[in-house]
Amino acid sequence: MQTSVTPTHCPYCALQCGMNLTPVPDGAGGGTVEVTERADFPVNRGALCGKGRTAPALLSSRVRLTSPLVRSPDGVLRPAGWDEALDRIAEGLSRTRTAYGPDACGVFGGGGLTNEKAYTLGKFARVVLGTSQIDYNGRFCMSSAAAGGIRAFGLDRGLPFPLEDIPRTGCVILVGSNLAETMPPALRYLTELRENGGTLIVVDPRRTRTAEQADLHLAPRPGTDLALALGLLHLVVAQGRTDEAYIRERTSGWAEARAAAMAHWPEYVERITGVSVPRLREAVRLFCEPESAMVLTARGPEQHSKGTDTVGAWINLCLATGRPGRPFSGYGCLTGQGNGQGGREHGQKADQLPGYRKLDDPAARRHVAEVWDVDPDSLPGPGRSAYELLDALSTDIRALLLMGSNPVVSAPRAAHVEERLRSLDFLAVADVVLSETAELADVVLPVAQWAEETGTTTNLEGRVLLRRQAITPPDGVRSDLHVMHELAARLGVEKGFPTDPEEVFEELRRASEGGPADYSGLTYRRLAEENGVFWPCPGPVDSGSGSGSGSGPADPHPADPHPGTPRLFLDRFATPDGRARFVAVGHRPSAEEPDAEYPVLLTTGRVVSQYQSGAQTRRVDELNAAAPGAFVELHPRLAERLGAVDGEPLAVVSRRGRAVAPARITTAIRPDTVFMPFHWPGEGRANTLTNPALDPISRMPEFKTCAVRVERVS
Ligand code: SF4
Repeated sequence: MQTSVTPTHCPYCALQCGMNLTPVPDGAGGGTVEVTERADFPVNRGALCGKGRTAPALLSSRVRLTSPLVRSPDGVLRPAGWDEALDRIAEGLSRTRTAYGPDACGVFGGGGLTNEKAYTLGKFARVVLGTSQIDYNGRFCMSSAAAGGIRAFGLDRGLPFPLEDIPRTGCVILVGSNLAETMPPALRYLTELRENGGTLIVVDPRRTRTAEQADLHLAPRPGTDLALALGLLHLVVAQGRTDEAYIRERTSGWAEARAAAMAHWPEYVERITGVSVPRLREAVRLFCEPESAMVLTARGPEQHSKGTDTVGAWINLCLATGRPGRPFSGYGCLTGQGNGQGGREHGQKADQLPGYRKLDDPAARRHVAEVWDVDPDSLPGPGRSAYELLDALSTDIRALLLMGSNPVVSAPRAAHVEERLRSLDFLAVADVVLSETAELADVVLPVAQWAEETGTTTNLEGRVLLRRQAITPPDGVRSDLHVMHELAARLGVEKGFPTDPEEVFEELRRASEGGPADYSGLTYRRLAEENGVFWPCPGPVDSGSGSGSGSGPADPHPADPHPGTPRLFLDRFATPDGRARFVAVGHRPSAEEPDAEYPVLLTTGRVVSQYQSGAQTRRVDELNAAAPGAFVELHPRLAERLGAVDGEPLAVVSRRGRAVAPARITTAIRPDTVFMPFHWPGEGRANTLTNPALDPISRMPEFKTCAVRVERVS
C-alpha cells in the first residue's frame, strides 16, 4: 500500500471533483483512505458534496464484493475462484455464439467506466465476440444533447467552454437541471454569476433548491420545453432581437427554423406550457440584453421522445441571438455520470468507434481496424440502443456481459427489463457491489474501483483527467481490464487486451487520432502535470504494436505540445461548411399524455444524497440516513383531491406498473405533476412506471414524463 497523499478525483458524477486520498491501513494488509481537500483542481477548488466525502465507505469489505460468485444448480450464488468464474463466462458466451451467432451475445457498459475500460469493452465486443449488440447506460443520460449537438454544431462535447466561463456571462438559462442536488459544488458558478451582476433563469416544473436561486423561475408542464424554447424564439424575432450578421456569417437553415418558430405564438405557448406570456417576455429580455448569454440543458428537456428536437430548439434560440462560438456564450449540456462524456467517445456506444468516430463510416472503420490489427470488414455494424438491447434480451440476445450498470433500477419500464434479464440463457455481471442486476447473474465478478486503480475520465467540460490509484485492491478483487484480458484469451484472442491502463490509453490515443474526440496529444504524464487537458488535443503518436497509423516512433512529449481546446467553435463549427445548422422543429405532445384513467403527470429525478441507481450510495450509512427511500412529491391541491396525508403511502400507477412510496406534500411542484426520485429498487422503484418511448434520433427513453394515477394505500 502506498502511504503518501494521492491527488485524484471523485468516483461519482461528471464534475469529477478533485480530492486527495491518504491511505489508512487496517493492519491486515488492506485498508481504506481518508478524503481531504484538493484545492489545486480548479473545477471544485476543494469543495465536495456528501457523496464524494463519504466515498471511502465503498472500499469496505462490509459493502462490496471480494470474491467471484457462481450460481449453483440449486439456484444459489456461491463464492468461487477466479478461474472457475471466468471459465463459466467464456463458456456461456462461446456456447451462445456457436448456437445462435455472434449477435446473440450482448454487452452492456456504463458511463462510470474509465476511458480505458469503455474503449476496451467496445473492442472486446467487436473483436472478440464479433457482436454488434453493445450499448451502455449513458444512452439514458445525455444522448439527446449529444445528438442535438452533433446535428447543430457537428460535434458533441457537453460543454464547449469551461465552467469558469459561467460567472463571466450575462445570463444563464438553466433548463431541467437541479445542480444544487446533483452536483452541489457547481452551484457556486451560478452564485458567482449573480454576484457579478448576471442573471439566472431556471426552467423546471419544480421549484428546486436550484430554482430558488433564480432571478426568474419558469415552471412549464413536463414535456413542453420544446414549445417553451420556440415561444421564446418567436418573441426574439418579433422584438427584433436576432443577430442578423451572425446568422448570415455563421449559420445555415435560418429561414426554415424561423418559420417554424413563428408558428408558436406566445399565447399558444402559454396554453401548452402553463408559463404566462409576461414571464416569457421577461425571459427574453433577460437573455437578450447582455452582450453574452448561455443556455445549459440537462436531463429535464433531454429525456423525452422528442429530446433531440427540444435540444435543437434551445440551440436555435442561442444561434438566433448570436451566442455559440462567442466569448462566455453558447449552448452546453451538463453531463451527469462520472465519465458520461468520455464513455460516449470511445466505442461502447452501439454506433461508435473510438475517438467519436462513426461505425458506419468506411474511413473510420479502416483507421480503427488498423490500430486493432484486424480486417475492417470483420467489424460488425451498428447495433441496438440501450433500451432496445435490453428489450431484446432472451429473444434475439441470449447471453449478456454487463459492466458497471444496474438496469434493474435504472432502465425505463424496469419490471419488464428485470423479467428480460431473468429469462436470459446466461448473464455475467462485473461490479463493485452486488447490485440488484448482479443478484440475477449466473456469474458475478468483483472488480476494483476508483481509489484502487488508475485510469482516465473526461469530465462534463471535456477535460480529460487522470484518476490515480491510492491503495491496493483487496485480495479476490481484480480490474475490469484483467477480466477482459482473461476472457479474450479464453475466447481465442491472445493479444490486444492489456491489463495496464496506461498501455490501453496509449492505444486509445492512436485509435482516436484524427477523430472528432482526438486524444492523440495526451499522455498520462501530461494529464498529471497539467491537471487535466481539454480535447481535442492532437499530437504525435507512436505507431505502436499494431500496424498503427503513425509513421514510426514519435516523441510523446514534444517541446511545443498542442495545448488542448478549452473553448470550441471560436472560428468555425465542426460542420463541413463551418456553419452551425438551425433545425426547423415544432411542438408535439409527449408519447403519453394524461387522460381520464391516468390523469396526472409523473416526472423523475435525483436527490442530493443518492447517486443514479443507488447501487453504491445506498450502501453508505451516512447517505442512507439522509435519504433512506423513495417518496412521492405532490402539490397540496392534488393531495387534497386525493385525500393524501403527508408521510403516508401513495400508490403511483402507470400503464407499466405500480410503485408505492410516502407522500411528500409541497407547494414546490405543479398541481398537475408528481415527482419521484429513481434511486431505489423494490416497491418504490420509480422506473417501474416510466415510459420507454424512444426519441427517433438519440434513442433516449422518455424518463421525464408519463401519465399516471395516484391512489391512497389503505
Ligand atoms: Fe463527487 Fe459529483 Fe459530489 Fe463532486 S459533486 S463530490 S464529483 S458526486
